[in-house]
Amino acid sequence: MSTVAFIGLGNMGGPMAVNLAKAGHAVRGFDLVPFLRDEAAKSGISVASSAADAVKDADVVVTMLPAGKHVIAVWSEIAPLAKKGALLIDSSTIDVDSARAAHALAEKAGLASVDAPVSGGTGGAKGATLTFMCGGADAAFAAAKPLLEQMGKKIVHCGGPGAGQAAKICNNMILGATMIATAEAFVLGEKLGLTHQALFDVASTSSGQSWSLTTYCPAPGPVPTSPANNGYKPGFAAALMLKDLKLSQEAAASAGAATPLGAAAAQIYALFNAAGHAGDDFSGVINFLRGKAE
Ligand code: NAD
Repeated sequence: MSTVAFIGLGNMGGPMAVNLAKAGHAVRGFDLVPFLRDEAAKSGISVASSAADAVKDADVVVTMLPAGKHVIAVWSEIAPLAKKGALLIDSSTIDVDSARAAHALAEKAGLASVDAPVSGGTGGAKGATLTFMCGGADAAFAAAKPLLEQMGKKIVHCGGPGAGQAAKICNNMILGATMIATAEAFVLGEKLGLTHQALFDVASTSSGQSWSLTTYCPAPGPVPTSPANNGYKPGFAAALMLKDLKLSQEAAASAGAATPLGAAAAQIYALFNAAGHAGDDFSGVINFLRGKAE
């Protein structure tokens, strides 16, 4: 078992760190928020007084932070302090350029590193069923995989440095665009007199099929577990969808890719967020498209 430093004990990082402690690792956790440090201490995590303190003697360092600037700030501080042979893993969702810059900081300090953003949300973090999308050298991925398996159920090596973040934002750009397209179809169907169930029965077994429809149907009824049947409580909050769509648009601009539907989805979610729905599930965009969001 390893000594793991876990930095960022929020909605995702807190339960992920707890799963590592449950698996028998000595976990030293740190977050800027005192309440989160206290909560972690109640769950078998030894609380460090700073990020620098957490990484002392750690075999592996995991960061789970809000955005690229936080990851760069923390990795700049800890990479020179981490012990020789330590592995750095960042599981935050951040922009590809910052992910690559973080890898460069690790390399400069002689450390192996992996970008390993996740999908699966807070439920996946608690239940250790996350999907990890990884970028980094083969040896770094091989070293990270056994630890990631204790927090997730599917671990994919997507390529070199930054490839995990690239896969994550491409996937979520598909998700944002298909959710809006699916929601538009239900709103149109309603106006044409179609029941939700009839449209679902056809589209879910036809070429309109997608995860947004069959697992996460934005109209209430056909998929009982979807947030549409629970007042559009997240789930996956619209604020996080907007964050990921903005990252996809930054990446598209930087790489010179044309993503007009991704751009439209980012604009629609920006309006949905600005109208006060940042905390709603992202599938609630159906009510916004109907002009009926409360
Ligand atoms: P969160 O805001 O709950 O947690 C982030 C934590 O990082 C906060 O507790 C904050 O205090 C801490 N932090 C910030 N700077 C720090 C520093 N310098 N040192 C120590 N701690 C610091 O966010 P979250 O929901 O846990 O998400 C974390 C990351 O995972 C984000 O990048 C998010 O986009 C991604 N993500 C979230 C979800 C989700 O459903 N919540 C799903 C997939 C991916």
